[in-house]
Amino acid sequence: MSKRQLAMVMDLNKCIGCQTCTVACKTQWTNRNGRDYMYWNNVETFPGTGYPRNWQNLGGGFDPSGDLKKGVVPNLERDYGIPWEYNYSELEKGKQFRPHVDPRWGPNWDEDEGAGTFPYDNYFFYIPRICNHCDNPACLASCPRDAIFKRDSDGVVLIDQERCQGYRYCVAGCPYKKIYFNPKTGKSEKCIMCFPRVEKGLPSACSQQCVGRIRFMGFLDDKEGQVHKLVNEYKVALPLRADYGTTPNVFYVPPVDSPPKYDANGKPIPGSDRIPVEELERLFGPEVKRVIKTIKDEKEKKKNGKESQLLDILIAFKHSDMFRMDHGYYSKNSASMGTKKLAPIDERYVRGKETKVFTNFLERGQH
Ligand code: SF4
Ligand code: SF4
Repeated sequence: MSKRQLAMVMDLNKCIGCQTCTVACKTQWTNRNGRDYMYWNNVETFPGTGYPRNWQNLGGGFDPSGDLKKGVVPNLERDYGIPWEYNYSELEKGKQFRPHVDPRWGPNWDEDEGAGTFPYDNYFFYIPRICNHCDNPACLASCPRDAIFKRDSDGVVLIDQERCQGYRYCVAGCPYKKIYFNPKTGKSEKCIMCFPRVEKGLPSACSQQCVGRIRFMGFLDDKEGQVHKLVNEYKVALPLRADYGTTPNVFYVPPVDSPPKYDANGKPIPGSDRIPVEELERLFGPEVKRVIKTIKDEKEKKKNGKESQLLDILIAFKHSDMFRMDHGYYSKNSASMGTKKLAPIDERYVRGKETKVFTNFLERGQH
């Protein structure tokens, strides 16, 4: 466990699957040097296979006694899909526009397919996924090189690019399959929670760019922050697949309003739900029904003209209110320790370079 924990809440009721977050992340971090197939942030359709394909069945994480479970390294061609390029240079010669490989799989191959039969009981919703910056990271536990570390200052999980030897035990060990092997550098890489941005008091690129305003970011122990309120106070944000045993720090407000199914005559079936609550419980645990009831009750209050702080938070009238990096926590740390101007990102993406400063500071209990 770190001294403090930066966390994210995503309200699935508002995600429109636009992939703006995916593009924001990709253009910032993974559009070069062997990272073409990596999606540190992806948004998948549920039910669906996800990315990499069938990641929920690829093992990893911990068993109930706390031992690491076996996992597999996904196959590039079969499970991620080989990223393709187009023959732009041939177009002026009158050639047909086409990809350089025969695409067989890729992220969102099954986008918007979902399950059920239209128009009777079909349904789907979107799940955006990043690394969960877990309290008990299976990636870290799997690494024989001790190359993965969790920053004490904010709980962000990073891979020391100098120590990593590309063994890929972490890829197999992460039950969310949120570590990717870079075939060009021979190292593993993952979501870094946009730490160069958050250290400047900015939210991650995926949060900042989110069109649906579904993403809240802040410290779990910051009682004034909306993340704390949603996770610890109202308890309406739940971790994904907590049964994997890694204690994730990305939390989800599950879908609350499920439209009714239709009967054979195309009439709504009163009291029926298209999204099976058992499926939501499989993803987000046994608290789902309570969360749905809490939010429905608050909606009713609001409809009747009463106040609801919870609904006001979830509506997110003001985008900037969704991000609370604890009023300059990082800059206050740097200033008080006399830290030099921030070093270039790649240099700090290494154990101890910057985290040591924060560790000492926090040990003095001054945050
Ligand atoms: S989600 Fe996976 S990669 Fe991220 S900290 Fe947890 S175990 Fe590690
Ligand atoms: S940008 Fe926001 S609304 Fe769009 S897919 Fe990403 S999380 Fe969903």
